[in-house]
Parts: sequence; structure tokens; C-alpha cells
Amino acid sequence: MKTVLITGGNKGIGAAMSKLFAASGYKVIINARTVSDATMELIEEIKLNKGIVELAQFDVRDGRASREYISKIQQLDVLVNNAGILRDNLVPQISRDDWKEILDTNFNAAVALLNLCRPLLTDSKQGCLINIASISGVRPRAGQGAYAVSKRMLIKWTEELAKSEPEFTSYAISPGPVATEMIKSAPWYTDPKAFDRIPLRRLATREEIAQAALFLANEQLPRSGSNMIVDGGFTQTTASQ
Ligand code: NDP
Repeated sequence: MKTVLITGGNKGIGAAMSKLFAASGYKVIINARTVSDATMELIEEIKLNKGIVELAQFDVRDGRASREYISKIQQLDVLVNNAGILRDNLVPQISRDDWKEILDTNFNAAVALLNLCRPLLTDSKQGCLINIASISGVRPRAGQGAYAVSKRMLIKWTEELAKSEPEFTSYAISPGPVATEMIKSAPWYTDPKAFDRIPLRRLATREEIAQAALFLANEQLPRSGSNMIVDGGFTQTTASQ
């Protein structure tokens, strides 16, 4: 049985991945910073469906807590760096604290977690790293400042890993907008024109992003380093469309 660790695996896209990986025969380690009733209900639901699931409560920015937990793991085949925060702002208005919080959560924690998980992924022989980036790292909206930078960093880092670490595969997934709590809090979410440029005329669902992750974790194609964009065609359009 393969094991996957999903950061922020208790909510939004992460929760959909936790359910799908468990239903597909993976042992799922759900990392959660905040353990709410919804987190416990998710775990119960997975168990009721005969899934194997474990809760790993730590803030991904907390190096000591991450190390403590990961040092106890015997086997890890897939690491999904999914935990992320959004804090839209124009670059000149981004405070030092916001830069730090966004880069620490969205990028630095991913690097630190891979450092801790590297021996396990290497031992797996089928090891796979999946970084949940964003189309903001490909073609950001105005005002996505530090978030866009952090997601671009994830995509470039994924490419570098494919070159330097062939012991496991590395992928980025760049979703377009998905109607989770995160995106519903964005100031542009309620703008009726916000999604006009999506040719498919619909948002991706969290379950569809989970399918992309499961596909990448299981595939055997030699395309480590790639960034899978799931955005209904948005990044193919131009500003006049
Ligand atoms: P949600 O806000 O629904 O979920 C984010 C998850 O990350 C939560 O479980 C949250 O925990 C967790 N998290 C945040 N900070 C930390 C931390 N320091 N330590 C541990 N966990 C943390 O967002 P989504 O499901 O929408 O986002 C998931 C990923 O997908 C993110 O990386 C996001 O950038 C990316 N993405 C989302 C898109 C969208 O449209 N929704 C589009 C493109 C990319 P807590 O509840 O404690 O805050």
C-alpha cells in the first residue's frame, strides 16, 4: 500500500485529495494546522469507506513539529505540498510581514518538508512530489503580488528538482479558480466579470484537481518537472478576450 502525505489535507482541494487518494487504496496522512469538527468528520468519512487515514497536526512553517512527525513515518511514496494562503495586494503595498508569511507558507515550507521527506521518497523507488501551484504563478491577475511570486517559485523549483533529483518525480499542478473558502475570500471573486476569460465557462472543481494529483502520483510517463495547468483554458487567452 502506498502512503501519501497531504499538507492542508483537511480542507478545500486538500480534503478532496485526501478522500480520493484514500478511495484509491493509499494510506493517507492528513496534515492539518487547525483540527476542526469538519476535520474529524472527514477522517470519520474516510474510515467509514474503509480508507486508512492518519492525522498529522502541525503548522507547515514549524520546522521542529514537522521534523518530529516525519521522523516517525516508516514509509512515504507521495508528498503533496498543498497548504497555502492567499493575500492579494499590489506589490508596493505588501508589508514585510505579509511577504514573510506568504513565502514561508507557500514556498519555504514546501522546501523544508521535501528536505525532511527526501530519504523516504527516495527509498520508495516510486517516490513522487506534487506541488500545488496556481495559474497565478503562470499568468497572475493584477494585485496578486506575493502570492503570484510564491507560486512561480514553486513551479521553477519543481523544474529544478526534475533536473537534480531523478530519484523521485516532481510535478506542479496549477489550478485556475476553484470555489473553496480561499478563493471566495478574494476581493475579485464577486465581480461578475471575474471569470469571463475562462473559455470553458466554468470553474474546475476541487475533485478535478484531486484527480489531476492522483493521476500524476500514479503515472509512469517520463515527464518529471512539468506543470499541469487545470484552468478551463484561461492561460491560453489574451487580455482582449
Ligand atoms: P483552503 O483555504 O480551502 O485550504 C488551504 C489549506 O491549507 C487549509 O487546510 C489550511 O489550514 C492549510 N494551511 C494554510 N496554512 C497552513 C500552515 N501554515 N500549516 C498547515 N496548513 C496550512 O484553500 P484551497 O483548498 O483553495 O487551496 C489549496 C491549495 O491550492 C493552495 O496552495 C492554493 O494556493 C492552491 N490553489 C487554489 C486555488 C483556488 O482557486 N482555490 C487556485 C490555485 C491554487 P487552515 O484551515 O488551518 O488555515
